This record gives sequence, structure tokens and C-alpha cells, in this order.
Amino acid sequence: MKMLEVSRRPVGADSAVRTTCCVVGGGPAGAVLALLLARRGIDVTLLEAHSDFDRKFRGDTIHPSVMELMHELGLADELLKLRHVRVAGLSVQTPKGPFTPVDFSRLKTRFPYMTVMPQTSFLEFVTGEATRLPNFRLVMGARVKELIEEEGGAVRGVRYKNRSGEEHEVRAVLTVGADGRGSRVRRLAGFEPKKTSPPMDVLWFELPKEEGDPVEGWIARFGRGRIAILIDRFDHWQAGYIVPKGTYPELRRAGIAALRKGFAGPLPEFAARMEGVRDWRQVSFLSVESSRCERWYKPGLLLIGDAAHAMSPIGGVGINYAIQDAVAAANTLAGPLKESEDRLVSLPQRHVAAVQRKRQLPTRVIQTFQALIQRKVFANALGSDEPFSPPPMVRLLLRLPVLRALPARIIAFGLLPARLKRGA
Ligand SMILES: Cc1cc2nc3c(=O)[nH]c(=O)nc-3n(C[C@H](O)[C@H](O)[C@H](O)COP(=O)(O)OP(=O)(O)OC[C@H]3O[C@@H](n4cnc5c(N)ncnc54)[C@H](O)[C@@H]3O)c2cc1C
Repeated sequence: MKMLEVSRRPVGADSAVRTTCCVVGGGPAGAVLALLLARRGIDVTLLEAHSDFDRKFRGDTIHPSVMELMHELGLADELLKLRHVRVAGLSVQTPKGPFTPVDFSRLKTRFPYMTVMPQTSFLEFVTGEATRLPNFRLVMGARVKELIEEEGGAVRGVRYKNRSGEEHEVRAVLTVGADGRGSRVRRLAGFEPKKTSPPMDVLWFELPKEEGDPVEGWIARFGRGRIAILIDRFDHWQAGYIVPKGTYPELRRAGIAALRKGFAGPLPEFAARMEGVRDWRQVSFLSVESSRCERWYKPGLLLIGDAAHAMSPIGGVGINYAIQDAVAAANTLAGPLKESEDRLVSLPQRHVAAVQRKRQLPTRVIQTFQALIQRKVFANALGSDEPFSPPPMVRLLLRLPVLRALPARIIAFGLLPARLKRGA
């Protein structure tokens, strides 16, 4: 093992910090990894580019697997005291009535539902827990600009700019890029993800709630060539309008009234409320993509979550997979990192390689499933003027007791779920 080297670039004495693990990005993956490592006694610095965790239009789902993790950490009861909605299943309206391919209530878990909570609350909760530990440090408003690299390419930390534009360094045994699908760390490390382009894009906006609205937590309706969804955000609805990929410019040219009319097609009871959507500035465009890096690591560096693999929104598994990467990384790396910390030696690459080995198969398989559903269900529904009806074969298969719980299980836990090691 190699002794740690000091960065080749001189910095002011008080602007450099030395830590064992520097996590870049305080999203679900980075925040959970930082908490898990800090609980194992590892010195962790978490750098988050934004000044707060407040995000509009982000995934607000906490999957049963994540609730199980919170339970194992003794945090589930506290987390569930925060305002949330519990969703028992995911249904879509079809001409033959509601079709419920995903029913969490059948799952054998303490948490047989999807917990829907603003991601802000979840991230504040997780980092709040970590902040109680003396070996955890959170720097908000810290935008990573460069990697500190040794000759030969081993990563030894990062340089970031703080809110006032001052440059700082964090030197670390391991740097983890958990900075999302547009990851700068990934780009700086020279990794290029392979992208596939799902056949849709999503427009997000808010609609007010009214007395007598359904209390299902989530509503999805397939219209003619369009899909409208509503997610319960307590005091308003988060509305998503799924359109065929590449058609957004055309919709913009047609004018905001075309959005109002299109969305109200499958959800006519919301037509009056759509009148409040008058300006494109109220609408946020999400270009849907799916990608995966061939390699998630190099000496001194690991990518996790969306930085390693951006997930299609089909099934809403992005957060689940990001957090399971964090669990697998903490299980695999806590021991070796402790050793590096104690003996001041670098981390052998086989440990970071092991994290990718554990997580790449479940990622690859779920992305293959998502691509299949995109092609067979979404592309058909978005490309057709007929009202959506699930293929008879799908209905039939989901009646079989052995398959009935499968979609819920995959969404709730993912494939080959990473479970926290005992004592972690
Ligand atoms: C509109 C929308 C809706 C979604 N809905 C769902 C859903 O319902 N369910 C679901 O499971 N998934 C959903 N997803 C996907 C889900 O949000 C992601 O899969 C998940 O957040 C990935 O977690 P992450 O921690 O890897 O990355 P992110 O959540 O993207 O977090 C990355 C963090 O890194 C920070 N960062 C970026 N660059 C830097 C830098 N240079 N320096 C320091 N920090 C940096 C960012 O500010 C951010 O906080 C949705 C995504 C979008 C965009």
C-alpha cells in the first residue's frame, strides 16, 4: 500500500481540510453514505453545491427498502413524524376501469407502502442526524470545481468554491462523486456514461388542491397520446405531463393553452384549475434520460447514484437505487477506510471495484426492464390516439399469484437489494 501524498498545488494553510472520505453531492446517495460512514466512526466531509436542500420537482418517494434501512438505524419512527403521505399502490385509469399493477400492501415488510415526503425534509433529516456526530462535516454552498490528482491519476480530494467564491481544498483518502446525473466529478475523472433516450419527456407544474379531491396520494391517467399524473404534496398537487420525446418545442410553439387542454384531456375534473397555468415560467421541463457508466471507480474515487447511472423515471426507482449504492458502499468500504485512516495509507482499488461489482448487475437488469416497459407500454401509449389499455398478456400475468407482487417488490426493494451489515 502506498503512503498518501500531498497535493502538488500549494494552498493557504487554513483553506485545506484533510478528511478520510469526501462525499461530493448532498442528494439521497451522498447524504445517506455520509451518515452511514460517519456512524462507523469514519471522518467524512459532505460538500453540497446548493445553500439549502430545498428542491421543487424532485423525487419525493421513500421506498420500503429505505424505510427498512431507517428502521435498522433506529430512525424510522422519528422520520415518520415528519409530514408525509402513504401510497398503498399505483393505479392507472383505463377504459375498463382502474388497473393496479403495483400493490405495496401485499409486501412482507414493516412498511408496506410508499412514503411520499418532500425530498428536502428527508435530506435535512439525514444530514441532521449525521451532524450529531463529531467526525461528520457538512459544507453547504460548496461547488466542486476540480479534482486533486497525483501523478498517475489517483484522486486525493477536491477543490471547491464556497458561496463567496473563495477556493478551498479537501484532501481525502477516498472521494465519492454523488453529484447526480450531470456529475462534474464524473466528467473530471474522464468517465463518459453510455446514454439511452427513453421515448418521453416530462413537464412539471403545480396545481392547487380543492375540497373533495381524491385522497389517493397519486393519480395517473393515460389520455390519447399523453399521460397526466398528479402527486399529492399536502397543500397542492405536483402535476406531471408526459409527452413524446422531442415534442416539447412544438407544444411551446402551440402555446400554453395547448398544455392546459392536453393535460385536462385525461383529467377533465382539473380543467378549471389548469386555467391558473398561464406562463411557461410556471412549468419545469425534465428531459428524461437513462445512462450508465462502464466504470464507476479509479484509484481514490468512486461514483454512486445518478452519477454512475441515471435511471428512467419508469417505476420511480432512482432514489431507491441511489440509496442502495450508498448502503453497498458503506458496507464494503467502512472497514478498509478505517484502516486507511489509522495507518495513513491509501485505499486499495479492489474495495471500490467491489462496490461496482455488487451494484452493476441490479442496475443493468432494472434498466433493461425499464427499456422494455418504455418500448411496449409508454411508446405505444404516447404514439397512439387510442385510449390506453394494458396489453391483455400483462393483465393475465399479473393475475398469477406468483407474479402479482413482483412489480411492487421490484419498485420497493429493487433487485438484489443491498442490506446494511449487522453492527453498521
Ligand atoms: C423532476 C424529477 C422527479 C423525479 N421523481 C422521482 C421519483 O418520484 N422517485 C424516484 O425514485 N426518483 C425520482 N427522480 C430521480 C431521483 O431524483 C434521482 O434518481 C435521485 O435523486 C438520485 O440521487 P443522487 O443522490 O444520486 O443524485 P441527486 O439527487 O441528483 O443529488 C446530487 C446532489 O449533488 C449536488 N451537486 C451537483 N454538482 C455538484 C458539485 N459540483 N459540487 C457539489 N455538489 C454538487 C446537487 O446539488 C445535488 O444535491 C426524479 C428526478 C427528477 C429530476
